[in-house]
Amino acid sequence: MQVAIDGPASAGKSTVAKIIAQKLSFIYIDTGAMYRACTLIARDTHLDYGDEPGILQALDSNEITFRTVAGQQDIFIGSKNVSQEIRLPEISANVSQVSALAGVRQKMVNLQRKMAGQVSVVMDGRDIGTTVLPHAEVKIFLVASAHSRAKRRFLDLQQRGIKSDKTVEQIEQDIAERDYKDSHREVSPLKKAADAVEIDTTNMTISQVVEEILAEIKKSQKKL
Ligand code: C5P
Repeated sequence: MQVAIDGPASAGKSTVAKIIAQKLSFIYIDTGAMYRACTLIARDTHLDYGDEPGILQALDSNEITFRTVAGQQDIFIGSKNVSQEIRLPEISANVSQVSALAGVRQKMVNLQRKMAGQVSVVMDGRDIGTTVLPHAEVKIFLVASAHSRAKRRFLDLQQRGIKSDKTVEQIEQDIAERDYKDSHREVSPLKKAADAVEIDTTNMTISQVVEEILAEIKKSQKKL
């Protein structure tokens, strides 16, 4: 079974995807973390974020993997756990440029499909329902008002202990810019799949969103 959860930045995708994966014993795959890792590799290799051949070469010698650490799914570049570092504001500010590179997307999509090949997955991102897993049994498109998403991102950074001097308003502007770039790029832009169910999470609790998605999963299981 494949569950695809797409939507703009900070709509609550990863929070609900993790809970659903745990409840159903599915594997959770955070595709945003993979593009963030690509961006970190570009930074640490001192490459321009638009240098596609350079970044592709750097990706060949820096393997990106997920591993379970203390019950959490962490992301590694080679043997280094970069789960915290990929959330730095510097990476958030540049990830849209790196993720717009066609070659980078092709590499990540291949990897994502390989991961989803043998097991039941909940995968979240921007193009899962449209491109990565077009035959996913359940497709969800999560949206929420820009202000509520900025507030969530602000709290998330605090909870993760990531230092940032940004106010909620500045974060709102940052995510609006990122959404614009993600929705207007040429290769698989952020877009609701025609057969996705849209859920507006602005005034919903996490458990309400989880219940609604679980209900969609049940519906599709009945059809199988
Ligand atoms: O989900 P998250 O906000 O961590 O994603 C970071 C960035 O990675 C997005 O803003 C987008 O540029 C890119 N991304 C993407 N396709 C995906 C997942 C994320 O282009 N499937």
